[in-house]
Amino acid sequence: MGKNAFLRAALGLVAFALLALAQAFSLERMQADLQALLSQGPRVAGTPAAAAAGEYLAAELRKVGYTVEFFPFAYNRTRDQGSSLQVGGVSFPVSSVAGSPGRRVEGPLVVVPGAGLAADFANLNLQNSIVVVRRGGIPGLEKAQLAAQRGAQGVVLVTEEPSGTRFSFGGNSPIPGVTISSGDGEALFALTGSRAVLDARIVTEEVQGRNVIARRGSQNPLAIVGAHYDSVPGSPGANDNASGAVTVLELARQLANSPLSEHIWFMFFDGEEDGLWGSRRFVEQHLELVRGLKAMLNLDMVGVDVNGSLGIGGSQELRALADCNALQVACGSAPGGGSDHVPFAQAGVPVLFFFRGLDPNYHRPTDTVADPVLMAQTGQLVQGILQRLLR
Ligand SMILES: [Zn+2]
Repeated sequence: MGKNAFLRAALGLVAFALLALAQAFSLERMQADLQALLSQGPRVAGTPAAAAAGEYLAAELRKVGYTVEFFPFAYNRTRDQGSSLQVGGVSFPVSSVAGSPGRRVEGPLVVVPGAGLAADFANLNLQNSIVVVRRGGIPGLEKAQLAAQRGAQGVVLVTEEPSGTRFSFGGNSPIPGVTISSGDGEALFALTGSRAVLDARIVTEEVQGRNVIARRGSQNPLAIVGAHYDSVPGSPGANDNASGAVTVLELARQLANSPLSEHIWFMFFDGEEDGLWGSRRFVEQHLELVRGLKAMLNLDMVGVDVNGSLGIGGSQELRALADCNALQVACGSAPGGGSDHVPFAQAGVPVLFFFRGLDPNYHRPTDTVADPVLMAQTGQLVQGILQRLLR
């Protein structure tokens, strides 16, 4: 080997090593990030744990040179403080429906026959009654409104879902509403005419949410990469969604010194679990910015392998930029809805949704583990998409 050839080879090796270094997602660092977020406990929007998680993300992003801003927003959330139903002196387990007013009401129990469709209410006298009706066919809110129009004081919806499943009216009900399991519902059907006391102990609280936004340059980004960092009550939210938030954080570190990051905003959404509040409010208030985006990439639950593949949903054109083969990542498909990319898609932005499926620990106290190897794979895939999109 001649001297020049040797030099070229040596330089090539150095370049290769630098490239490898630049692409090295640090598993140790991501594990430390996961621990830091999980140590706060459930990151329910509006709680000190969520605030501390937001501070942690902001501090880590500032360390590598990003300008970090908080985007605050407020919304209402209803909380059940232990609702109850007594019929003829017997107690039945019930769950309040979100959107129900908090009130104690009583009256004779009246059963709505059949499937509880609008026609089934037609000839009923429901004055001062507590109504029992099956879920399904028409929205629960419509059933509550039909009952209230006929003078009912409260509504009990019989559901086939496992007890403890929480439902929402998706709006404000005029009268208190609770759900009851189908087994207990059958027992109620036999108690028509009995005296019922329904105590919907619900409080409505205003939640202060806060998105974390990191940018290096432009006020007019071409791409947003995001993940929600809040979790549901009682769940540490390792896979849902510390996994996505930590992956976006590490990706931001990887790109901190790259010209690419001048065109990207890294966003950490709050209030996702209560109804995509962080992403919806951001889109509403930044319509001009949003219209200039070439892509919004959203990561939710990417740390547990449920399906043997990384699900990618959204724009086919963006999907074509994902180099799954080169990175040896098994890529599959993902559902279209359910997370923070949705408000962006509704505003006309091409989106991709990265999602490895609902694992058995979803929204449970046992959601304590996310795999940094799977997260790094996802992050590298997203990095490649951004490189091809923005070059
Ligand atoms: Zn999630």
